[in-house]
Amino acid sequence: MTRVLVALGGNAIQPARAAGTWPEAVRRMRRTARGLARIVAQGHELVVTHGNGPQVGNLVREAEIAAAEVPALPMFVADAESEGEIGFLVAQELSAALARVRVPRTVVPLVCRTEVDPRDPAFRAPSKPVGRFYRAAEARRRRATRGWILREDRARGGWRRLVPSPRPRRWLEAPAVRAALDLGLGRACVFVVTGGGGVPVVRRKDGSWQGVDAVIDKDRAAALVARALGCALLVIVTDVPGAAVGFDRSDRRWLRDVPAAELRRYLRAGEFGAGSMGPKVEAVLDFVARGGDEAVITDLASLARALDGRAGTRVRSSSDRSARSSPGRAARRILRRRRQSRLTPR
Ligand code: ADP
Ligand code: MG
Repeated sequence: MTRVLVALGGNAIQPARAAGTWPEAVRRMRRTARGLARIVAQGHELVVTHGNGPQVGNLVREAEIAAAEVPALPMFVADAESEGEIGFLVAQELSAALARVRVPRTVVPLVCRTEVDPRDPAFRAPSKPVGRFYRAAEARRRRATRGWILREDRARGGWRRLVPSPRPRRWLEAPAVRAALDLGLGRACVFVVTGGGGVPVVRRKDGSWQGVDAVIDKDRAAALVARALGCALLVIVTDVPGAAVGFDRSDRRWLRDVPAAELRRYLRAGEFGAGSMGPKVEAVLDFVARGGDEAVITDLASLARALDGRAGTRVRSSSDRSARSSPGRAARRILRRRRQSRLTPR
């Protein structure tokens, strides 16, 4: 049984150009859940993580509109709320999909916290836009009264709040989930963890934790989670079939099996969008560089084939030399089995 972390992007949760209604989200998640259920039916041990961009943006906006009547909560609380919202949605649809394919599991969404470093340079240079657009006067007022940092987006006509996106350092609930899986609970449960990268917290002097207004990149958090849980495979599900070189050109080339060193070269050459494909490529490289076996970037439609190595952009650990030399089908199967038994959770 291979332990697999699947990281769901925004598009697997809510269609990109949709109004953002609940029924839309349910329909989309139903489709996503079918793909995830297939992974479990194939005998893998599944753990799920997900993004929360649009949801947390809506919650922040809601709080602003309602401010005269309901006290606004800090943004890190909105992070926690969105973990609850999406975790509930995944639980609803995934448990139903698993029951349908006769591999029933209890889906367990957790509200998770992720430690960040208060000295992370991201705190001095907020870069992640959240929430609505403001006119210049309004932007000035918010800067003065709330200390917000805002940036003008000329193309879209307005100012937007920027929040820091610090690096995730530690996932606080990791020891508990790791222990549960190592005890064999993965045969009974699917954990949904660190949604939106987890709620960012910093350590106080007395050892307790303080929430901070920031957004952790969910792909960076996914690499951390996959490592913390000893996953053999990290799958990043997004809205394109993989990473491409020359993405904006007509001669774009989708990457399939790619050596880590080559992928790193493309990353350095700026082939992948900052804040979109870039963090995904960083995450898969980070995962295999630090002991992960295999990592794939793919879309929902190709998910099943990607798990068999027939789709998606795939990177393997460089120590896995036999598998790198693209063997035939039968050899691949044997290699996979060998690899799986080697990586069976201890
Ligand atoms: P998610 O919400 O799943 O995290 P993102 O929108 O953040 O997804 O990232 C996926 C997007 O990255 C794609 O839709 C694509 O527009 C963009 N992208 C930027 N550079 C590349 C590239 N080189 N190859 C593929 N996609 C790219
Ligand atoms: Mg996105």
